[in-house]
Amino acid sequence: MFKKILIANRGEIALRIQRACRELGVKAVMVYSEADREAKYIKLADESVCIGPAPSKDSYLNMPAIISAAEVTDAEAIHPGYGFLSENADFAERVEKSGFKFIGPTPESIRIMGDKVSAKQTMIKAGVPCVPGSEGALPDDPVFIKRTAKQIGYPVIIKAAGGGGGRGMRVVHTEAALLHAVQTTKAEAGAAFGNPEVYMEKFLQNPRHIEIQILADQHKNAVWLGERDCSMQRRHQKVIEEAPAPGIPRKLIERIGERCVAAVKKIGYRGAGTFEFLYENGEFYFIEMNTRVQVEHPVTEWITGVDIVRTQIMVAAGEKLPFAQRDIELKGHSIECRINAEDPYKFVPSPGRITTWHTPGGPGVRVDSHIYANYFVPPNYDSMIGKIIVHGDTREQALARMSTALAETVVEGINTNIPLHRELMVDAKFMDGGTNIHYLEEWLSKRER
Ligand code: ADP
Repeated sequence: MFKKILIANRGEIALRIQRACRELGVKAVMVYSEADREAKYIKLADESVCIGPAPSKDSYLNMPAIISAAEVTDAEAIHPGYGFLSENADFAERVEKSGFKFIGPTPESIRIMGDKVSAKQTMIKAGVPCVPGSEGALPDDPVFIKRTAKQIGYPVIIKAAGGGGGRGMRVVHTEAALLHAVQTTKAEAGAAFGNPEVYMEKFLQNPRHIEIQILADQHKNAVWLGERDCSMQRRHQKVIEEAPAPGIPRKLIERIGERCVAAVKKIGYRGAGTFEFLYENGEFYFIEMNTRVQVEHPVTEWITGVDIVRTQIMVAAGEKLPFAQRDIELKGHSIECRINAEDPYKFVPSPGRITTWHTPGGPGVRVDSHIYANYFVPPNYDSMIGKIIVHGDTREQALARMSTALAETVVEGINTNIPLHRELMVDAKFMDGGTNIHYLEEWLSKRER
């Protein structure tokens, strides 16, 4: 096992990783920007290094500063968390070239999965079902583009190979709009991602977002840890996640989970990863793979009993997975609400000083957050300030526990989306389970104040 790990992230995930280090008896080095200097989780670390001013590009995205922080503190490995540099193949490469372990997959794996065209081609080869679409990137030939769209059938979606975070996509309903949409998406993709390549897919009208968590070691062992339903989204951002996914036959999910494990073994993937699928009319369609730990990992941890962050660290240190597929049993139901510092109606960010912070407790309640009373939420980063996660024997019990937990929570000084979550936990359709990816936005457009 490593003696010392540097955590190249901030906020709740930085604290989550630090806690895993403690359990493993590993020393934790935190890096921080000037905006995070006063945060308690920095003071809890064994060592900490300031890596630059508040803007992410000068600190949490500053590769040389992070690597030199690892050098001066004698860390052996770097955990990137999620977001920031976690899916940056060049960073992973620089980390390893500088003599540190990158706690994640190889730079090659990150590179393949980071390009959606090559990711999709890899998945097709590995037998993972994908959304019907163009074979690879679209050429310039307008005749070919029109023919491809006709074969797939309208509506189609034009997606940037280098896209991410819900950007670089355009839905096309008619042939008249097709060529212009391709050109515009290409131009935008070139400017935003430095890669103008685009591809075409069938646009699924009412899918659910279902994802499969996997873990793999460097000794050809891999497991899948059940699925998560992340269909409750606003602007392609997940708001509520749960596991298992309500109402999908186990047999179907098992078949897809096994395909994911086979793919992982085939491509020699190591570490934690997530296969994201759209699910419609009983079929799964792969859309992308995330090569890192995800915000919503706790729901999986709770139904499987597997500590994903701890296991990430263990396999990065070269250890074997301490469990096999037959050891993975799903128990009960888990739901996560992302708590954001934002207006619960207009969704404008609400940074500032938190005066009161009271978190919920009791059976089946977990809070992953770095916040405390008198904490100042900086305006420079993502608005998520923590997560409330619950578990119950049944989905009904989990929903009831979440409602109670949200009611117990008191945050004063800033606005949060807790009122939104409280309304959703008692919404009849959400309580039924199985809402699609458009449900939340449609609900918001009809919401009464
Ligand atoms: P990103 O990396 O930007 O998150 P994804 O490929 O994961 O991009 O897609 C993000 C979201 O866009 C999906 O969760 C879904 O809501 C929508 N989407 C993507 N592809 C399709 C498709 N073929 N049909 C319908 N919706 C899609």
